[in-house]
Amino acid sequence: MAEVVLVHCTSYDNHEVEGAIRRGIDLLGGVKRFAKKGERILLKPNLLAADPPEKCTTTHPAVFGAACRIFKETGARVSYGDSPGRGSSASVAAQAGLHDVAVEEGIPLDDFQTVVEVSHKEGRQNKKFSLAKAVVDADGVISLPKLKSHALEKITGGVKNQFGCVPGFLKAEFHAKLTNAFEFGRMLVDLTNLVRPRLYILDAVYAMEGNGSRSGNPRKMNLLMLSDDPVAIDATACRLIDVDPELIPTIVYGQEFGCGTYLEEEIQLSGDPFQEFVCPDFDIDRGPIEKYVSGSGSKLAVVLLAIIKIKVGARLFDNLLISKPQIDASKCLKCGICIQICPTQPKSIDWVDGDKSQPPRHDHNRCIRCFCCQETCPEGAIFVKKPLLRKIFGKY
Ligand code: SF4
Ligand code: SF4
Repeated sequence: MAEVVLVHCTSYDNHEVEGAIRRGIDLLGGVKRFAKKGERILLKPNLLAADPPEKCTTTHPAVFGAACRIFKETGARVSYGDSPGRGSSASVAAQAGLHDVAVEEGIPLDDFQTVVEVSHKEGRQNKKFSLAKAVVDADGVISLPKLKSHALEKITGGVKNQFGCVPGFLKAEFHAKLTNAFEFGRMLVDLTNLVRPRLYILDAVYAMEGNGSRSGNPRKMNLLMLSDDPVAIDATACRLIDVDPELIPTIVYGQEFGCGTYLEEEIQLSGDPFQEFVCPDFDIDRGPIEKYVSGSGSKLAVVLLAIIKIKVGARLFDNLLISKPQIDASKCLKCGICIQICPTQPKSIDWVDGDKSQPPRHDHNRCIRCFCCQETCPEGAIFVKKPLLRKIFGKY
């Protein structure tokens, strides 16, 4: 039986957050269950990008600070780190407000530069990983995810948070190789099974909805969630925001690969009542992730789609039905970051005829829909466009 603790927390006031997390950890059996004197404990927040805390891109400094203090008390040697989508860990930690807290608490930023190859024989899809040295050296990892909508995997929470254990540019290789949400989700589960964080403290005091995981809007949920089961924590979060957990690859494969459970009858909730945090109008796509491609859905819809595919050709069919990244030219500052981050060669987004005075343009015939450009754009100028046919067929 998995245990997920829901704790009410109305603000990022340091005192309130720390009290809520202490209460949650006590309900799970106390902090000594998760760290012992002398152990190396790595705190792994979400440091996706260099945004200030109020943007809700990253784990809030108040949550991080509380975790620092609580785990320091165990006598463990506590460090922290993450590998952001772009930029150095230090600069992102500074902008996100974690650096100052870490200095105050005497917690060092650990080594997320050095790459260590690790074999993972039990991996169901990925048998080896390149991990940050800090992760390999740690006796235990405490994962501090943020609840956010996500263009590729629909949500980012417990399971997805471990992707930052893969250093810098190596993340792009996974995007280039694993070109759909299902393959990518399987890799994330393999990775989480390898890293095996001892505890997850999910920050949903303010979550992010809409155009996440960087350019969405803060959504107040007054909630901190704690568990040692990342699948159960993600599935419970999904139920709170009215998303079917069976639509999330990291949750479905998480169950299948023994990473945790999403079944309601196998999850014991404790702490504050579930109903206090229900958020049915959370802005998120509740449709399936391109499931029609594998032929699921009603028979009539599948037959119609097969006919359309033959008639128009596979490429055009994909463009007519699969959600795609789109640029809002009015928001674009022509910085070119989206081009740098695109993992395909040649690039699937580029300047038109080299003209940097105009926004870049996507080549949707080449694009693998990893949505790295959407996730990384600092201006929120890239959004996910759902084609009309997809909207129609998605219902069936
Ligand atoms: S879309 Fe975003 S990342 Fe790309 S050039 Fe414009 S502002 Fe920069
Ligand atoms: S254009 Fe964007 S979504 Fe398409 S492959 Fe490049 S980064 Fe990924």
